[in-house]
Amino acid sequence: MTSVMKDLTQRTAGLPLEEVSCYLCGRTDGDILVDDPPFVVRLCAGCELGYTSPRLHGDRIHELYDDTYFNSERSEDFGYAGYELDLAGYLKTFRRKLNALESHCPAPPAPILEVGCAGGAFLKVMHDRGHEVWGIELARGMLDAVRKRYGFEHLLLGRFDEVATDLPQGRFGMVAMFDVIEHVPDPARELALARDALRDDGILVLQTQDVSSRTRKLLGRRWHHFKQLEHIYHFSPSTVRELLSRAGFEVVVLTRRHAGKYVSCAEIADRAHRVVGLPRWLCAPMRWMGRSYIYLNPLDEMLVVARKRAAP
Ligand SMILES: [Zn+2]
Repeated sequence: MTSVMKDLTQRTAGLPLEEVSCYLCGRTDGDILVDDPPFVVRLCAGCELGYTSPRLHGDRIHELYDDTYFNSERSEDFGYAGYELDLAGYLKTFRRKLNALESHCPAPPAPILEVGCAGGAFLKVMHDRGHEVWGIELARGMLDAVRKRYGFEHLLLGRFDEVATDLPQGRFGMVAMFDVIEHVPDPARELALARDALRDDGILVLQTQDVSSRTRKLLGRRWHHFKQLEHIYHFSPSTVRELLSRAGFEVVVLTRRHAGKYVSCAEIADRAHRVVGLPRWLCAPMRWMGRSYIYLNPLDEMLVVARKRAAP
């Protein structure tokens, strides 16, 4: 067993596992994409949803997302290494995404809600554009840091279902969920809450990884989105459309083109060493460039804009 696997196994030692069937269609047969004990990632034979089973028990998954998640020492398996250090990169990434989605965005000062606001980069960009911003986050330290850094008022600590009653319903011009739906046991429920929060002409913006992408097929089990503790679902264009439809949305934009990220040279050097296996000396020039940023888009994530479908 590699040391990475040892850590992963130890981390789950006290947590209960559960076996689940396909979230979208209920089948249990399909290909195994990754066998990573105690986790198995499956591709449903019926609808091609990727999902992890066994996985951490759905009632306990939210416990993963405390402040250690954003300062992970094993970010290849779990969480982010130094989220705050890369804040400049996140700000650049969100500015670029919003420019690309400009024609779909509500006019300021329409209130904006972000579910899983982490270090607050997206909220900061929306605030700079003149919007009233609201954020929900599970990690207390992250939320405190956002409050201190930007002075935002409307920051709610907890799960979406726990704090939904504290939100003004039917008022938001946009609800954003970046890298959220693949983490939560009942994503249709989260999306239904987002729908309730949106005004009738409001938009939902989300991003999630694409299990049907060439990048995933090329990298196989080394694909960087196979993080079995936290990514319990792997959507594709067809399964994310199905999920959104069930939650009462219709898709307006679904693109891989604007789903890239600004990544620091330090992180690229780190990944080149760990994932591709390049020797450290070969990665050194990138490491020296440190926190300068390069825009990367491996075309293995989807950026989706959806609007509320009129009630049936
Ligand atoms: Zn299925």
